[in-house]
Amino acid sequence: MTKSVYVLPGDNIGPEIISEGIKVLEVVNERLDLDIDIHYGLLGGAALDATGDPCPPETLAAARNSDAVLLGAVGGPSWDHHDRELRPEKGLLKMRYGLNLFANLRPAITYPQLVSASSLKPDVIEGLNILIVRELVGGIYFGEPRGFRTLESGEQEGFNTLKYSESEIRRVGEIAFEAAMKRGKRLCSVDKSNVLEATILWRKVISEMSADYPLVSLSHMYVDNAAMQLVSEPSQFDVIVTGNMFGDILSDISAMLTGSIGMLPSASLNEKGFGMYEPCHGSAPDIAGKNVANPLATILSVALLLRYSLGAPNAAEIIEEAVSRVLDRGFRTSDILTDGTTLVSTSQMGSAVMDAIITA
Ligand code: NAD
Repeated sequence: MTKSVYVLPGDNIGPEIISEGIKVLEVVNERLDLDIDIHYGLLGGAALDATGDPCPPETLAAARNSDAVLLGAVGGPSWDHHDRELRPEKGLLKMRYGLNLFANLRPAITYPQLVSASSLKPDVIEGLNILIVRELVGGIYFGEPRGFRTLESGEQEGFNTLKYSESEIRRVGEIAFEAAMKRGKRLCSVDKSNVLEATILWRKVISEMSADYPLVSLSHMYVDNAAMQLVSEPSQFDVIVTGNMFGDILSDISAMLTGSIGMLPSASLNEKGFGMYEPCHGSAPDIAGKNVANPLATILSVALLLRYSLGAPNAAEIIEEAVSRVLDRGFRTSDILTDGTTLVSTSQMGSAVMDAIITA
């Protein structure tokens, strides 16, 4: 049966990195006869310019009718003058919310070839393989009430609300426990239950769930300690589960363990396994249009898409192995360039992965 992949290139480096992801998707599609139909839409600044809405209803509808969505990145200074509700990033939040993509999976793997590209010491990051499961459609980024108000003193106050219900915690907890079962069977739940009530409940619900997963060893950590442990002794982690804002910050820290944010893919899933796949980084306006961005996070996101939403784990492995072989050959975009390696452009990196698949 034909599977449809809806592609949203987005803004700035988005179209450049997506082109390389599509090159790779097309080659595995053809070689493994996967019967994937690829079609395109608009999100973010590109959609705002074309339709006046950063997440037009037709984009959401087309995403719902597809089997998976592949996204580049959205946003940038060209759209910063718009009202907050019209910003490209708001369009992305609307997509995540509209598709109920409550679980964001961010694998951070240190490739042995890139150990020297990280700012951390090689012995700290060697062999690292962490999965961060971040709650994506709740918590303080979505909690109401929110806004600005004037205090009696006449002073302005900005406010947000952090809340999590039991069911919101349980559904993301389930994804994290299941993922831990398939990996090293260690789950660390990160909260701030010494200060925040919403995360006292988080810890209670996750602790109760562990009775259903006796093989998974569960630990808890405060977020400030987790940030410190991620850079001092990251190999202690297998799977981390946490709320929206803590996950946002911790996954960017874990990006640096891998050498560059340009190496980090992500999958955002709903309860039916439908997902949106995107690199963890933003639209990098500072390097847009220069053909220098690292496309590997996007290419690795294509691998996650094939594994989680299209039921093609063998295709995912082929891509991941090809990436590893390209790194073995010494090809590097500028963000991961080290002594003795060869600088390549965005498109050369994509072609190198494609060639590695063809010649495997
Ligand atoms: P960013 O991730 O775009 O860039 C941070 C730094 O990392 C920059 O120096 C950039 O050049 C570099 N970088 C990012 N991706 C790279 C890649 N593939 N290869 C090489 N270097 C790379 O973060 P930012 O500068 O804070 O945000 C820029 C815009 O992107 C903002 O408008 C922001 O709101 C938006 N954003 C979008 C998403 C998304 O679409 N999911 C996520 C984060 C930020």
